[in-house]
Amino acid sequence: MNPSTTELHDLTLSELAGLLQARKVSSVEIAQHFLTRADTHSALGVYLARDRACTLAQAHAADQRLVNTRGAHQPLLGLPVAHKDIFVTRDFASTAGSRMLAGYRSPFDATVVDRLGQEGMVTLGKLNCDEFAMGSSNENSAFGPAHNPWDNTRTPGGSSGGSAAAVAARLTPAATGTDTGGSIRQPAAFCGVTGIKPTYGRASRYGMVAFASSLDQAGPMARSALDCAMLLSVMCGPDPDRDSTSLDIAAEDFTRALSDPIAGLRIGIPKEFFGDGLASDVRAAIDAALAQYQALGATLVPVSLPRTELSIPVYYIIAPAEASSNLSRFDGVKFGHRAEQFTDLADMYRKTRAQGFGEEVKRRIMIGTYVLSHGYYDAYYLQAQKIRRMIADDFQQAFKQCDVIAGPVAPTVAWKLGDKSDDPVANYLADIFTLPGSLAGLPGMSIPVGFGAHHMPVGMQLIGNYLQEGRLLNLAHRFQQATDWHARAPEGI
Ligand code: GLN
Repeated sequence: MNPSTTELHDLTLSELAGLLQARKVSSVEIAQHFLTRADTHSALGVYLARDRACTLAQAHAADQRLVNTRGAHQPLLGLPVAHKDIFVTRDFASTAGSRMLAGYRSPFDATVVDRLGQEGMVTLGKLNCDEFAMGSSNENSAFGPAHNPWDNTRTPGGSSGGSAAAVAARLTPAATGTDTGGSIRQPAAFCGVTGIKPTYGRASRYGMVAFASSLDQAGPMARSALDCAMLLSVMCGPDPDRDSTSLDIAAEDFTRALSDPIAGLRIGIPKEFFGDGLASDVRAAIDAALAQYQALGATLVPVSLPRTELSIPVYYIIAPAEASSNLSRFDGVKFGHRAEQFTDLADMYRKTRAQGFGEEVKRRIMIGTYVLSHGYYDAYYLQAQKIRRMIADDFQQAFKQCDVIAGPVAPTVAWKLGDKSDDPVANYLADIFTLPGSLAGLPGMSIPVGFGAHHMPVGMQLIGNYLQEGRLLNLAHRFQQATDWHARAPEGI
């Protein structure tokens, strides 16, 4: 095969790996192709930072390594990736989508970025996201939203909207994302790409700008489960010196069990995920995907997650509480923005934070401070923690009857940019299907399963028990071998 460079973006990560290993193309050629493509599609607003010279230097180094270490098993060597701008990077500015960090340069790479870099991946740039990963539509980015490549008047989802849009538009074959309450799964669903959030603690949080530390997790977004498995195998693993909550479990090669048979596997269908709130077009695509799983030999088992609705108030107490604490570091002294004019120290803090933070971030700092304050802590925060535990217990009850849980990622397809931007609660409510798994710390995945209203992609969510990422990827891979939803591309892109 001798593809002309104009076709490179149509290839998946694993296909590009094959070409690179066979020396049919160089890492520099691949990087050049994607950089040029990003230039021509800049209106999608996916990149917040790029640096052509830096990317090409990394690609050149990878080409050297390919020559010097021929035959070694290094599946990601020379392949491009782009990082959600919530990961700090030495070579590119890191903003977390906030004015507070505009132009900020980290002295180090996040562990996830470092691990992918060690494997020889080449960074194409940094991807747009909601400010401090707070949001579901990418509209909370201080730099304007990324657009959905299937319909650029619609949201790509959030908070990893830039990551999902970049993969869907084939501006990169792979991206990193983070998921606190759905931020990998929901944008993956809205843009028709594949994404997985591993078990809480699987991937190091070091160098991920903190939003809600007991929920934040990194994960890959790409065009297939196979590609996600390749990336996740490198992104996971203990990081004891730098993230004390990282699990002491060795990294796994998630590509190994991808093709295992799934006959006899029990898929739990939580009735609370299929109620009135679920749009009929989304439901139809999910039902068809479940029928496909039955055809592959899996059985469907009704289960119940009775506290699903409570996950919204619980999450929107716990996440802002943690955020209010995490964001106290942005004080004009240690990082980023500082107000130019102020009278004294307190005034400097006040003005810096008033100028640096956007509206949604301020809202959450206020909610978080309130629920943690004396007199309200017991009524809100403590109560939320108790219900969080019950939500986790509900999953364990369900997993007695099934091996994996399936349902929608979001109640509707991607909405129009602007439609919910004045209504924070409407945004919060749309998180209903992703929040329960996040609160329980479970691994969750989104795979494209068809199209709904306005020909927008629909994603199906797969939730596994702790450390069952391999099983999720296996289920997703088998589905993708039998269908081609994941291979569809937006027209004219
Ligand atoms: N939409 C949710 C929120 O706004 C989840 C965000 C995330 O997972 N980072 O908090």
